[in-house]
Amino acid sequence: MSAQAEIGVIGGSGFYSFLDDVTEITVETPYGEPSDSLFIGEVAGRRVAFLPRHGRKHHLPPHRINYRANLWALRSVGVRQVLGPCAVGGLRPEYGPGTLVVPDQLVDRTKSRVQTYYDGEALADGSVPNVLHVTFADPYCEAGRKAAIAAARGRGWEPVDGGTLVVIEGPRFSTRAESRRHAAQGWSVVGMTGHPEAVLARELALCYTSINLVTDLDAGAEAGEGVSHEEVLKVFAENVGRLREVLFDAVAALPAERSCACATALDGMDPGIALP
Ligand SMILES: [Zn+2]
Repeated sequence: MSAQAEIGVIGGSGFYSFLDDVTEITVETPYGEPSDSLFIGEVAGRRVAFLPRHGRKHHLPPHRINYRANLWALRSVGVRQVLGPCAVGGLRPEYGPGTLVVPDQLVDRTKSRVQTYYDGEALADGSVPNVLHVTFADPYCEAGRKAAIAAARGRGWEPVDGGTLVVIEGPRFSTRAESRRHAAQGWSVVGMTGHPEAVLARELALCYTSINLVTDLDAGAEAGEGVSHEEVLKVFAENVGRLREVLFDAVAALPAERSCACATALDGMDPGIALP
């Protein structure tokens, strides 16, 4: 493998095209194909691998994304810190379209997704992963969160520091009752891709930072007839430029040497398989 990177960004397919001089590489994994090729380039002197989460043609719905292959592919080119931008619905009236949230907690309400590498099933090379239980009390990298928050503030976009992202199975949106229930729990935003992305990163001892752009108020938090798909696209288009700037600044601000707990998530445990 020739192209290497230290930082991964899993995001919309619009991001990689903004980098000059990208190298596109395909990566094979024991778990099958990632969502797309990796697009490797440089931001602020850091080597970055971009991966379009839904594929470049946006053909993969959230529940069909091969999250295990995606994280494995990133690690296999050298990535150790991952930024995960995603569009979300706001669960509080004050978290309207254009709000940026850097959550510090996650609730999993998905239903059908493989969420571990350590399931005891042999890989094609005959190695067998041991059953491991990683610590996940704090699902996101604190250093990554600090970098993202500082980057947003530096661009004059005051983010919500902390809060809970609830991840639903999708691809449908929530009913009003589901949405009101999520809001009543005190949760902040709702999305469809944040899990199992975060836990699989942790299982590979990668840093993972979730960065949420609110594109609409969720059904239970809005008073009107509901936001149209057109409005969601409009909000995303209005914000994608500054979100990209924030991501680039966050990449630049990530620590060169990791001293966070993510790096040692597997210490003292035997994965049973060779991590890439
Ligand atoms: Zn970390």
